[in-house]
Amino acid sequence: MEVDRREFLVRGGKYLMLFGGASAAWEFVLAGTPEKAPDYDAKRHWWAFFIDIEKCIGCGNCVRACKAENGVLQEPFYFRTWVERYHIPPRDPANPEREEHPVVDSPNGGYDGFPERYPEGDGSKNFFVPKMCNHCHNSPCVQVCPVGATFDSPDGVVLVDKSYCLGCRYCVQACPYGCRYIDPRSNTVDKCTLCYHRITKGLTTACCESCPTGARLLGDLRDPADPIHELLRKHKVQVLKPNLATGAKNYYAGLDGSVR
Ligand code: SF4
Ligand code: SF4
Repeated sequence: MEVDRREFLVRGGKYLMLFGGASAAWEFVLAGTPEKAPDYDAKRHWWAFFIDIEKCIGCGNCVRACKAENGVLQEPFYFRTWVERYHIPPRDPANPEREEHPVVDSPNGGYDGFPERYPEGDGSKNFFVPKMCNHCHNSPCVQVCPVGATFDSPDGVVLVDKSYCLGCRYCVQACPYGCRYIDPRSNTVDKCTLCYHRITKGLTTACCESCPTGARLLGDLRDPADPIHELLRKHKVQVLKPNLATGAKNYYAGLDGSVR
């Protein structure tokens, strides 16, 4: 008797299903037949992101490219990637010991860039931080999904099988980085797929391709020739919220300790 995928997932444990499902190009994942995907062996890749804070100019190209590439809703509540501006005021000479808290803004997720707000040379520190799903290796979202719709693929990408997503929002609440939202068109969860439909064809993500300064770079940690290895050797990098041990794979260079 043929066992359907949901039954297989429940009976056999989700990792069995996910291993087959994730070795697929994205359209095959969507079609529910990931095992049929050609020309891409997920086990040969382990994707990660390198983000150089000093290079980000807050132009918003990445946000616009992501929305266009992935059909993300235009309203300013829906983002697969967004950019935040951090402003750390200068120290108060009368109270130099006092730690200044950053002021963070992200108008329309940085989609339109950032209007000038802080004068140069006033002693403040200002920088931009691109954010998106961290494709965590120990992802809280995968752990809480009651039906296995959110899953890890063998290439280190966290994906959602929308045909199983209940729209229950458990994962939205579980993600400590605020990377998920419910798409009202389908009432299922949405987030960055690392442009799976592109990377499985040998392309980079839309956000990396559109970044004019090379602040964002997709890298394959299983490919010894990938430039990401050199970048990780040369820069001091850190991930967001390392205390949560999510196994986040977005490596930030030049990240200020005030970034959350
Ligand atoms: S950043 Fe959030 S949505 Fe992405 S894998 Fe981690 S917990 Fe899941
Ligand atoms: S496209 Fe590059 S420089 Fe522009 S906001 Fe995005 S990461 Fe920063």
